Amino acid sequence: MKNKQKNQQISLGVEAMPDVVPKDQVYWRQMLETGRAISELHDFYFIDPSVIEKYETFENSFGADKEVLEDKIFSLKVGRVKSALRFSFRESVLRNFIDHKLAYFAYPLKVFHFGPVFRDIKPDEYFFKEFHQLGFQVVGDADPIYDGEVIIALYDFFKSLKLNKLTLKIGSSGCHVCRNTFKQKFQNYYRNKIKDVCRECAKNYEINPFLLLSCEKDGCRALREESPIIFDYLCTSCNNHLKSVLELVEDNGISYEPDSRLVSTSELNNRTIFEFTVPEIPHPLAFGCRYDYVSEAVFKRSIAAVGGSLGIERTIEAMKRQNVDPRFKAKPKVFFLVIGDQAKKGALKLMNKLRLSGVAVVEMVGKKTLKAQIKTAEKMGIKLALLLGQKEVFDGTIILRDMTSGVQETILVDKLVEEVKKRLNNE
Ligand SMILES: [Zn+2]
Ligand SMILES: [Zn+2]
Repeated sequence: MKNKQKNQQISLGVEAMPDVVPKDQVYWRQMLETGRAISELHDFYFIDPSVIEKYETFENSFGADKEVLEDKIFSLKVGRVKSALRFSFRESVLRNFIDHKLAYFAYPLKVFHFGPVFRDIKPDEYFFKEFHQLGFQVVGDADPIYDGEVIIALYDFFKSLKLNKLTLKIGSSGCHVCRNTFKQKFQNYYRNKIKDVCRECAKNYEINPFLLLSCEKDGCRALREESPIIFDYLCTSCNNHLKSVLELVEDNGISYEPDSRLVSTSELNNRTIFEFTVPEIPHPLAFGCRYDYVSEAVFKRSIAAVGGSLGIERTIEAMKRQNVDPRFKAKPKVFFLVIGDQAKKGALKLMNKLRLSGVAVVEMVGKKTLKAQIKTAEKMGIKLALLLGQKEVFDGTIILRDMTSGVQETILVDKLVEEVKKRLNNE
């Protein structure tokens, strides 16, 4: 390799597509294990759709947001088909539901998913071009009980992580009918106030007026205080749907705030819309909504659905900022020190014996000197080391070394598993 190339970064840029590195494995493991446990308790099946879909699958699922979101899709060619990296899970879940006739498997279908999502957005501290989502989707039923189930599953997930100061906000985007009535009232309200909103909002007013609901600039916020709210315009059936969801959440002892500002910018999303936040992170940790119109728009099949997902990276960041330790602790390990080539063969057999009995073993038999091996064990914070040399192999013994005190004792290899377990359990 030429010197010039040596320091060149090979990835696209860490800030855009962050790598998951071993030091964070306890967090990631906790996410997956908690997700699995919650999905089992709430009766969601695991689904792992392909990371690539047809381009138009995502494109058509944006509705009127198409113009804004289209250029955020990572597109690629698969054969001759214009395809895209997963923009969100729900379209893939719907496609799976249709492709694999999953209605015969379970109806409604309740699924849990975990994996990467790709969006060509401007990355910041909390938003990456590649990030991971864990979520729950219910396909095939418009009953508010499923909106409630998705919210409760996500809530239970966060609670199980022991995250604090969690806020749940719930709103409604209405339906085709009442959403449009509200949209008109909302637009009318702003029509002669456009000069008073920020430049971004003035631009957004033309693209999609509901984008004005999320502007945090002082002037825009003040103006919004007086604006019409969707709760006053929901039709009877949307209103009843919202009431049922709120009751379900309340009955489960979960506190929430109704939020009239939560209105989806996409007209393909309807009724329930919610988000979970913690004060330490400026973006929601989880977001979800009902999307009964998406399947019709994308697959020409009318299928009711609701779902919600949380961002793994943000959730881990929230745990770190709240000093919440991952519950998953790495197993205590023993370090196997080997002296001399002859001991190596016997060492592998003994290590395997320990591993089969459930003891995690680290080794560095490669080429390192004993001194280097001990140094590594110390660096890893290992409490118990095993020492095998030529003499021990010959005698059928092995040396146990307490790494904290440095005290060593010789035991028979036949007693190895028993003695090691005894010491690890005493820790
Ligand atoms: Zn309605
Ligand atoms: Zn604004």
